[in-house]
Amino acid sequence: MKSIQEIVTQTEFSDEDIIRLLSVTDKNEVEILRQAAFDRATEHLGNQVYYRGLIEFSNICTLDCRYCGIRKSNHDVPRYELEKDHIVSAAVWAAENGYGSICLQAGERRDPKFVDFVIDVLETIHEKTVSETLPNGLGITLSLGEQTLEVYEAWAKAAGNPVGLRYLLRFETSNPDLFDHLHCAPGKHEKGLERRYAALANLRKAGYQVGSGVMIGLPGQTLEDLCKDIRTFQKLDLDMIGMGPYITSAGADMLGEGMMEKKALMRLSLNMIAVTRLVIPDVNMAAATALHALEEDGREQGIRHGCNVVMPNITPRIVRKNYQLYANKPFIEQEPSDSNHYLQNCIEKSGRTVGLNVLGSSVHWLKRVKKI
Ligand code: SAM
Repeated sequence: MKSIQEIVTQTEFSDEDIIRLLSVTDKNEVEILRQAAFDRATEHLGNQVYYRGLIEFSNICTLDCRYCGIRKSNHDVPRYELEKDHIVSAAVWAAENGYGSICLQAGERRDPKFVDFVIDVLETIHEKTVSETLPNGLGITLSLGEQTLEVYEAWAKAAGNPVGLRYLLRFETSNPDLFDHLHCAPGKHEKGLERRYAALANLRKAGYQVGSGVMIGLPGQTLEDLCKDIRTFQKLDLDMIGMGPYITSAGADMLGEGMMEKKALMRLSLNMIAVTRLVIPDVNMAAATALHALEEDGREQGIRHGCNVVMPNITPRIVRKNYQLYANKPFIEQEPSDSNHYLQNCIEKSGRTVGLNVLGSSVHWLKRVKKI
């Protein structure tokens, strides 16, 4: 049998190798895996970690994903939608503080009023953030769920920055039965895995750097499922990957199914990040905020295991507590500059530097569009 040291030096991995790496718990083996992932990230992406200032601009959602704290049927959460001026101010703050990019996230809506609101916001952000330091304006990542190709195209045009245009749409799990279990509240079939893949293909068509990902440690999820998730990342030829631990939420429908024990969940999540980095070395990979909900230095650990993006929460504080996807979500109270300072420390402690005033686009994407 191959040793962990032998496996991590490979550039091609069998399913058996992947499952073996995902399951490591021995301290020495964990460190071999972590160091290999960190080194592979350095080799392919350099030493910088990029910020995406996260603005959670509305928790109004038309869907009922069973794991999610802001699902439509959770009537305990006060709903909000930030006004345009507040969103734009947060974006301008990000640009002035060296963030090359922001991420706009919200619950899922497809009505024309919402679509037009996003267009208006994007156009204004672009107009206000073109500068000498950011000649194309802020990089924009959208995380607004499944939309038609026409909507994706309209938002791409409004963002005005084709070299810094990205979309995050997790497929959550590649196991179709588990996907249905997560999304199909009794009597509802709001989401389908194949439709999710089709939306990701449309995003590529519309010119976005395409990001997706999964939740790790879902009830009933196996190591074989996670291995298949990595194979799906490869098949979809993703530019960006964002994944994090599944954490129960009081307002969710799946509370009764429980979650993994915290230490084991953290280990599995970090293994998944490290293995993904080894298998797909040149994608941008975000250290999810959910890692921090499990352990104080969660995102720092994510960076040490191969992540190269963090998403500081710059949502105005007044509404932040109402965007609770899961329990113990961090940075509910801090002002943006506090979490900014904190994150910079985390990044430097993990041996990286912060890439300020740059778009920090995915090297995988840059190679595909022949920009490098
Ligand atoms: N509606 C958009 C979508 O579905 O892509 C964006 C918002 S949605 C809340 C963003 C992500 O939050 C989901 O893709 C899901 O992976 C994550 N999420 C929701 N509930 C979670 C939970 N309990 N634990 C961990 N992640 C969760």
